[in-house]
This record gives sequence, C-alpha cells and structure tokens, in this order.
Amino acid sequence: MPSEIVQVGHPVLRGQARPLSPGEIRGRKIHTLIDRMRSAMQQAPGVGLAAPQIAMPLQLAVIEDRAEYHKEASAAHLAERGRRPVPFHAVINPVIVDRSAETAEFFEGCLSLPGFSALVPRALRVTVECLDERGEKKVIEASGWYARILQHEIDHLSGMLYLDRMLLRSFTSMDNWAQFWKDKGAREIRAALDCMDFRQDGAPPGTSN
Ligand code: ZN
Repeated sequence: MPSEIVQVGHPVLRGQARPLSPGEIRGRKIHTLIDRMRSAMQQAPGVGLAAPQIAMPLQLAVIEDRAEYHKEASAAHLAERGRRPVPFHAVINPVIVDRSAETAEFFEGCLSLPGFSALVPRALRVTVECLDERGEKKVIEASGWYARILQHEIDHLSGMLYLDRMLLRSFTSMDNWAQFWKDKGAREIRAALDCMDFRQDGAPPGTSN
C-alpha cells in the first residue's frame, strides 16, 4: 500500500472536490497529477483512484481494470459481475446523467479503507458525462463492474465513501470475506446476516418494536 493514499478519517475524503477548467486539464500540473495517480493505483493495486485519495480535492479520477487482475477469478464470477477489462483513462468533472433502476449487490472495497469490504448496492448501468485527459467532452455508457467503479469513484468526488451506501451488517474484514462470504450470492448473505436496507426501513434489525 503506497503511503501516498490517504486513509479513512482524513477530512479530504469527506469534502466536495472542485471541478477543473479545460485550461487546467491541458496544463502540465494536471498531467503530472494523472501520472502520479496512475502509478499509485497500479502499485496498490486497485481499479480506480480519485484525486481526494491522494489529498487533492479535485474532480478527477483514474480507472483501469486490467485483464491480469481477473486471472484468479472464475469465468462465472466475472460474468456474474459483468467484469471485463477497462483500459486506463481519466474521468474529469464527471456527472452521472442516467442510472438504471436495476441494481446489483456485490462486495466492494476501497484503497482508503484497506482490509475491509461490504456488500454495496449499485446501479447496473450508468451514463456519465465528463471531460477526458485532453479536456474534451466524453459520454461514457457503462454496465457491470465498470459502472460500479465509476459510481464508487464519482462518490469520492463529493465526499462519499462506500460506507455510506453499504449494507451495514455485511461489513467484513477481507480475511473473513475470503473464509465465509466469497462464494455466496447476495441473497444468501442477506438472509444469513439479517441484512436490511436501513435507508428504507429506518431501523436496524431487531429494533422494530
Ligand atoms: Zn475508494
């Protein structure tokens, strides 16, 4: 874990990041920053990194999901998640302009909270408008794991962490995830943990009386 990545509890992870101007994006500073973020993400390794995670409150994230990261996973695991390789790119001033009502729940982690994971419901498909690393307008239509990565990274730019969206009772250390939950589906895990969506029902399990 490169020490450069700031950890949960740092206020920069809870603030609103500021947008970049096309002039700034074309400048040397931002290009250097994108290179730094790329190497921090690859060293970790991770599939996405947002600028606030290296203490820069800017609306910039980098994403790359390499085929080599998929080698350990079964074809069924990858297919279930809609996980396919995504080439390296930067996403600047992104806005989710459309998201599917259909959602999926999978375990998700964060480089600012290493060693832990939780089930996080996310839209299956999103449309994102943003600028690319040349400052040009881009529309991304994403589904599956790429849509999840985008939602996770874009959350970082407004001070949100997966903790704010997870099914609280599914929170687990990675070791226990590997031992107990790795091969189970979301429905089975929900049943085993008595998971409920707190936002809908307002009360944790067992306190309804
Ligand atoms: Zn994260």
